Amino acid sequence: MTFDLAARLAERRSSGLYRERLVLADGQSPLRYQQGAELLSFCSNDYLGLASHPVVVAALQQGAERYGVGSGASHLIGGHTEPHHQLEEELADFVGRERALLFSTGYMANLGVLGALLQPGDRVYSDQLNHASLIDAARLSRGDVSVYPHLDLAGLSRQFDAGQPGHALVISDGVFSMDGDQVPLAGLVDIARKHNGWTLIDDAHGLGVVGPSGRGSCELLPPGGCQPEILMGTLGKAFGTFGAFVAGSAELIETLIQFARSYIYTTALPPAVAVATLAALRLVREEGWRRTHLRTLIDRFRAGAQAQGLPLMDSLTPIQPLLMGGAERAMSWSQGLADQGILVTAIRPPTVPADSARLRITFSAAHSEVQVDQLLQVLGRLQELEE
Ligand SMILES: *Cc1c(COP(=O)(O)O)cnc(C)c1O
Repeated sequence: MTFDLAARLAERRSSGLYRERLVLADGQSPLRYQQGAELLSFCSNDYLGLASHPVVVAALQQGAERYGVGSGASHLIGGHTEPHHQLEEELADFVGRERALLFSTGYMANLGVLGALLQPGDRVYSDQLNHASLIDAARLSRGDVSVYPHLDLAGLSRQFDAGQPGHALVISDGVFSMDGDQVPLAGLVDIARKHNGWTLIDDAHGLGVVGPSGRGSCELLPPGGCQPEILMGTLGKAFGTFGAFVAGSAELIETLIQFARSYIYTTALPPAVAVATLAALRLVREEGWRRTHLRTLIDRFRAGAQAQGLPLMDSLTPIQPLLMGGAERAMSWSQGLADQGILVTAIRPPTVPADSARLRITFSAAHSEVQVDQLLQVLGRLQELEE
């Protein structure tokens, strides 16, 4: 039988879930250009405004001059260069772990860790709203998967009590990518430890942003408190570059080098990207004002949105979704914003659960307070139109 793609596409279109890509004419910044039109954008993960930072751009150029463009091979076959190695050491130091290992993407890092660790009979406990890359990593692993209700530690405990013995891994986003809320990390690690399990935290949206020094979700743990055994961070968000890493014990990292297939069987990141990320990491560490300014923008937005009665969600992070419910409503608000020169993407199922389509508004240290006010003004107008 042939594949009936036309029917699948038609169904996706008729259910209001069809995706289309914007073709933008420039790089990351609050102001984007599409076919000559200026758009004020609130949908980037460039939380600290580093993706177009001149120091990071210059580092990429210098890295390319010295090391060329492609790494030419996988890490184990001659693609692993001094900047890769130095970046691993500096990332490990930044997050306070023995070692770190670079992966080409966060998606691959999650696949690699779960694939390397889990054997038949092992169990994975996964938050219901985890990122797709964690969901896929669990599904593709050899472990048995239990999904627990979002942030429900009592529910997780009950699942542990009901499960058979065997190695267990709890996996969770640190900051949930489509909701902006945060895992109660101390409690989560505690439950896993009580059952001799490990915890993996995917801190794609926490690293660089959360915690006074930007060390991410783990920086909020009490000093000396139990740390998750495995930390995954991405470099394409607050760091403004590309790639990802896993940090943990030296033994964990050696295990991944030996057994993580998405680490072994793929071309290493371009060394110039590692050089650029070293520059970005220095800015993340040294320029704490970026986090302070981001906080100011988030507080300003939440206060304004609350005053206007907009459907805010329970988030303290730069991810500030407005819950729309139906996909059509989310699309119509997104279009209304676009008509006023503001770019905010509608997030619809299957990325989020049914009837919880939303506008995923994100802030960056590159935004100004005036730009936040412009967004609030247009949102207010759209709300009046609906009433
Ligand atoms: C973006 C993201 C990833 C994937 O990282 P990439 O480097 O873009 O592949 C993984 N987990 C979470 C929570 C993310 O938001």
